[in-house]
Amino acid sequence: MLCEVCGEREATIHLTTIADSTATIQYVCDVCGPEPLELPPYESDPAFEIASLQRLIERNDVPDPVRKAVLEQIERLRKRLPPDDLPAA
Ligand SMILES: [Zn+2]
Repeated sequence: MLCEVCGEREATIHLTTIADSTATIQYVCDVCGPEPLELPPYESDPAFEIASLQRLIERNDVPDPVRKAVLEQIERLRKRLPPDDLPAA
């Protein structure tokens, strides 16, 4: 089956999106598909996102480029927190 986004490459990923209690399944290739590490959207709660990102980089199997991206994301999220809300380092 061909990718539904570009229509050129073989679809290798099934994306399931749930919106308004309707599930949509999309077949996309690995070029059009999501990045392996999905960084949290900015609308979410920064304190919660920082905590989950910190758990992620505590794992030993995280490659260095990913670790670097996660640390940068934590830094960005910290800037959005009111000073009193900063989780203990
Ligand atoms: Zn594609």
